[in-house]
Amino acid sequence: MIRVCAPGRVNLIGEHTDYNQGFVLPVAIDLNLQLTLTREDQLRVKVIAENFKQEASFGPEDLIPPRENPCWLDYIKAVYWVLKEDGYPFIGSTIHIKSDIPLGAGLSSSAALEVAMTLALSTAGRFNHSLKEIALISHRAENDFVGVKCGIMDQFAVALAESNHALFIDCRNLDYRHVSFNLGDYKLVIVDSRVKRSLVTSAYNKRREECETAVKRIGELLNLEAESLRDISISDLKNVQVQLPPHLYKRSRYVIEENARVIESVNSLHEGNLDDFGYFMKRSHAGLRDLYDVSSPELDFLVDQASAVEGVIGARMTGAGFGGSIIVLARQDIINKLKHTVSESYEREFGLMPVFYGTRAAEGAVVY
Ligand code: ADP
Ligand code: MG
Repeated sequence: MIRVCAPGRVNLIGEHTDYNQGFVLPVAIDLNLQLTLTREDQLRVKVIAENFKQEASFGPEDLIPPRENPCWLDYIKAVYWVLKEDGYPFIGSTIHIKSDIPLGAGLSSSAALEVAMTLALSTAGRFNHSLKEIALISHRAENDFVGVKCGIMDQFAVALAESNHALFIDCRNLDYRHVSFNLGDYKLVIVDSRVKRSLVTSAYNKRREECETAVKRIGELLNLEAESLRDISISDLKNVQVQLPPHLYKRSRYVIEENARVIESVNSLHEGNLDDFGYFMKRSHAGLRDLYDVSSPELDFLVDQASAVEGVIGARMTGAGFGGSIIVLARQDIINKLKHTVSESYEREFGLMPVFYGTRAAEGAVVY
């Protein structure tokens, strides 16, 4: 029997930069998905999903992408499908899955499932994949089979993260590096707004288009070869500001500044300067709210309330926006006060109780 454990993840800074060929800085969190796989002689896969209290099975003939609304079994089929595309044999098995990563809360339970599944199958079949290859297979599973067009950050973080380190990823060439993330007296707190991210797909696609249009326009205006906003500097942008529609200027400015903030955040972590890191978190949130227009009243409220608590040095929304979670960097001794103050005011304002997860930078997926 093969036993695999894969964590959820949260992005510290570098939001909406991945599809602009920029930088991201996620950490794995200490909530995990556990998967066991036992090989069987028949060419059939039986899966037990404890979180759903359901059981299902499929064979090689059933590896057909869902037309709409993927169900949990599709994530398992997806990994089998990618491995089949790559010419690996179908491995009959019984799989058992349970997870304490909340589903659909923006903590990437889906990538945890894909990475755990890929790692288990690769181990069972002795396919000798590196962890980076495991991440890439998992990413293809989600994009090409499940049909969710996501960047590579989630699967990279889940597969490659190291304990007490953040993972710096250059989304242009997929180079990555571990950055020491020692929090000392501080803790990372995730606050789930409990607002479902309903607008997220349409807005996400719209932002992607806006960025593509902006790159083309700026490239033409400046007569330079720009593949993405990564190739444009803030002074380039200022030079064409009056010739750009205001919303395209705002989107571009956010992305260019956010990429710079990721680099500066990494530098401040190298120097052990958490105050600076917290400052960049706050600037990042302001950019997402005022320039990229993907925050929401709930997320802004949570960030403002948390920031006002003495002992909090940084707070920002994390994920695509319009709902989901914020992250807070808070001194350990004030976390109870933070929970109390923020819950009370949030409930008064929106009639919802936020959910708190205190976490640290955890290790990536492991096989036991
Ligand atoms: P997120 O990745 O932010 O948690 P997604 O919508 O991308 O949200 O992925 C959630 C989906 O992943 C679930 O609806 C389910 O289909 C699948 N999934 C995640 N965790 C599990 C699990 N423990 N068991 C079965 N399916 C899971
Ligand atoms: Mg997901």
